[in-house]
Amino acid sequence: MRPEIPFFPPDLFEGDRKVMLDLIREIGLAPEQKFILGEHTRRFEELLRESLGAADVIACGSGTSALGLVLRAMDVGPGDEVVVPAFGCAPLASSVLEVGAHPVFADIDRRTMVVDPDDVERRITHRTKAILPAHMFSIMADMPRFTELAAEWGLRLPEDSAVAQGAVLGGTPAGLWGEAGVYSFVQVKSFGMPGEGGAVVTRDAELGHRVRMLRNHGQDGQRFVHRVVGTNSRFDEIQAAFQVHRFAGFPDRLERRAAIADHYTERFAPLADRGIVPPPPGREGRCYYVYCVQAENRDALKDHLAAQGIGSHVYYPLPLPHQTAFAPCAPADERWPNAEYASRRILALPIYPHLDDADVERIADAVCAFAR
Ligand SMILES: *Cc1c(COP(=O)(O)O)cnc(C)c1O
Repeated sequence: MRPEIPFFPPDLFEGDRKVMLDLIREIGLAPEQKFILGEHTRRFEELLRESLGAADVIACGSGTSALGLVLRAMDVGPGDEVVVPAFGCAPLASSVLEVGAHPVFADIDRRTMVVDPDDVERRITHRTKAILPAHMFSIMADMPRFTELAAEWGLRLPEDSAVAQGAVLGGTPAGLWGEAGVYSFVQVKSFGMPGEGGAVVTRDAELGHRVRMLRNHGQDGQRFVHRVVGTNSRFDEIQAAFQVHRFAGFPDRLERRAAIADHYTERFAPLADRGIVPPPPGREGRCYYVYCVQAENRDALKDHLAAQGIGSHVYYPLPLPHQTAFAPCAPADERWPNAEYASRRILALPIYPHLDDADVERIADAVCAFAR
């Protein structure tokens, strides 16, 4: 029996295990005993800020809480509507609800599975305060169109770039298209780490300043002086030092992901008329955090891969407005046909950087054999 290829690899950080253990010792034994928002966090923020050419980068507790900080910094609140994708992860809706605003679900493009600008525009009302496009799977949302829409209707433009750190569209990095973007460093994301964390990135220094205050109880540098009502969304020093160390290898890991994706797409392109459709080829506006095909017999394909020891995963089995948690926000007579279509067909295949060529071939062969 050949070894299993898991979808979530248990050895993502194996190569840097010693570095992590050394950092725990170093920071754990340092005389200042500084474990959050210290020198390492500042260095990490500065590294990201410089590499992006951003006005500010604010490391915070998670990608979800980064979204919440952005919405609060934009004064999105009760009475406001925010148009969000109908297909994606829970924080797209829950972060809007948490600030007391109302998520309005827009359908996605059937092929790319990112939110459709025409459908977003259709759902704009006099109560709409913001549109929240999200990059999904490997594909960036149509940010040039969303930038136009936001300008035309006078709306705020937060950008959920949690899965797209490292992607670039038309020369602008994911995260800097909107007024503020977010990254998530949770394990499985493109610049994941062994723990919980995220960041807000922005080209607006004033907005960045507000996020910085909100992340640490509304303090503006001076301790126990609270200018605004904030929250606790601080960043861990050990993880910050670990991410600074890992940053140098990030472009190579992204490149390896993209090379695997190129190969899958080349192998799967001929399967389109046999019920398995790969994502559009290319690297512009793309980041292969995951690699998702659309399969007519998705569950059978998943079982077929599992029988050969290959893990796969369904992101996401239900559109957001069909989730029990968010159904109360969704008008009963509304439909999101493309989100429904995608949730029935989508299947993610393993694509982590240390997958070797033989494993990539084994996965590609198994998918092709199923289509035959
Ligand atoms: C992962 C993710 C988030 C949330 O990030 P966490 O760090 O897990 O809180 C937000 N939006 C999208 C699109 C994501 O994929």
